[in-house]
Amino acid sequence: MTTTSALRDVVVVGSGPNGLAAAVTLARAGLAVTVVEGQPEPGGGVRTLPLVSDRVGPDEGLLRDVCAAVPAAAPTSPFFAELDLPARGVDLLVPEVSYAQPLDGGRAGVAWRDLARTVEGLGEDGERWRRLVGPLVRHHEDVARIALSDKRSLPVAAVVGGAGAALAAALAVLSTRAGDRWWRTDVAHALITGVAAHTITALPSVAAAGTAAYLGALAHSPSGWPLVRGGIGEITRVLVADLRAHGGQLVVDRPVRGREDLPAARHTLLDTHACVAARMLAEPFRGRLERLPVGAGVCKLDYVLSAPVPWAHPDVARAGTVHVGGSVEQMRQAEAEVAAGRHPDRPVLLVSDPASHDPGRSGRSGLRPLWAYAHVPRGSDRDVRPQAEQQLERFAPGFRDVVVDCVVTPASRMADHNAALVDGDISGGAVSMWRMVARPGPRPDPYAVAPGVWLCSSSVPPGPGVHGMGGHHAARRVLRELGLPVPSLAPGR
Ligand SMILES: Cc1cc2nc3c(=O)[nH]c(=O)nc-3n(C[C@H](O)[C@H](O)[C@H](O)COP(=O)(O)OP(=O)(O)OC[C@H]3O[C@@H](n4cnc5c(N)ncnc54)[C@H](O)[C@@H]3O)c2cc1C
Repeated sequence: MTTTSALRDVVVVGSGPNGLAAAVTLARAGLAVTVVEGQPEPGGGVRTLPLVSDRVGPDEGLLRDVCAAVPAAAPTSPFFAELDLPARGVDLLVPEVSYAQPLDGGRAGVAWRDLARTVEGLGEDGERWRRLVGPLVRHHEDVARIALSDKRSLPVAAVVGGAGAALAAALAVLSTRAGDRWWRTDVAHALITGVAAHTITALPSVAAAGTAAYLGALAHSPSGWPLVRGGIGEITRVLVADLRAHGGQLVVDRPVRGREDLPAARHTLLDTHACVAARMLAEPFRGRLERLPVGAGVCKLDYVLSAPVPWAHPDVARAGTVHVGGSVEQMRQAEAEVAAGRHPDRPVLLVSDPASHDPGRSGRSGLRPLWAYAHVPRGSDRDVRPQAEQQLERFAPGFRDVVVDCVVTPASRMADHNAALVDGDISGGAVSMWRMVARPGPRPDPYAVAPGVWLCSSSVPPGPGVHGMGGHHAARRVLRELGLPVPSLAPGR
């Protein structure tokens, strides 16, 4: 199948985890693959770059995860599981606390990776946590299979094997306000609501409940919510090495702005936001992609600290991910404001302190990075550092005293370092139950967007996250059209 002419078999635009997953799958099938990336380095949402600020120079040796830091979906993603990241030298670090939810008065909800320990810590709600989350944990591999499916060919064995019932029970409790009665304490309720808030949409909702069920199950699975030793960019290193080992090429610094920039190929896969992909297509294909609404945005905050975050509750410091948003009602209020296009006074933040789990992430003089982002309206050009610091100081008194500097990237500037992050939308389009299935539109094959052109980013099922499955599903469609078998992804092949 490999061509000898200048016309490549396959061009992939974009080298995020989905683009590289597609490229690796197709290169392993024997196709001539070229990946064209607009930035100087590959990886998109999975890059680790030097953290340099006005006050901290490159000699300190600090690194920042530009976008994703916690690849929670990767270990149970069928693509990454078969690729076998650990066998290729990616050290997935499993924090003993997957996530935590600090609350006022020095209290906190703590999701230990160990389910029993979590149940024990949640007091009156412990048994309720076990009844709701326990079945999801027991069936977490099937839950992941359902969540990461193409939403067209549901894995029936997974659904009927117990995961379907566990998901239905979780959705019944978590997707409406009527389900609030399930909880006896504000702690457990806030703990699970912090996970639901990952969707950056109004709370409660079916989509957010689905996210809470899926990520909530993974948090107590053997792989937990891992961090990557040395930074998440290690995953990209492995993907690029595998692509090259199978004859694939990577061209960086080559933005594709329109149809005229698209390199000629028999098949073109677009690893970018649906509305960016639309610019590369003619009508009627363009209009179909433009219908996927752009989602809410984030403002990224890359802090340099002189010491660990002084969380009021000591177990919060053991968490790989901290959800900073306060009580259930405060998070609901903040997410409703964002959905309405307003900036909340108390935004929801996601925070991770990598050096607490990977000492190598500290700098030469002992400084350390702190990864954080705040939920903001789409396209926001506001620097929300003051609001973010107010939230952090609230749950970690003395936080401001350990801040050395902070590099702020408002939502409106996110696309400067990744064209797929339109208006700071990190989800590849708005997330709702309908939009998780009809993504980018209500069509039998969401990946085929024009003759010979395939969308393979988080704008197609299964949606956002570091799992590579949007790319892998799209690549399988291409292989089916070419009558080629799906190759093994195992190391050494
Ligand atoms: C701040 C932030 C924090 C996040 N945290 C997490 C997390 O902790 N865990 C998690 O699982 N997920 C997280 N995510 C989401 C995750 O990063 C994405 O869902 C994932 O990277 C999507 O992969 P992708 O391949 O579809 O797109 P991307 O990773 O966004 O890659 C797209 C690539 O295509 C390139 N590109 C786009 N358009 C063009 C063009 N026209 N021409 C040339 N190149 C182009 C871009 O430069 C980029 O390299 C986060 C995202 C952000 C922004």
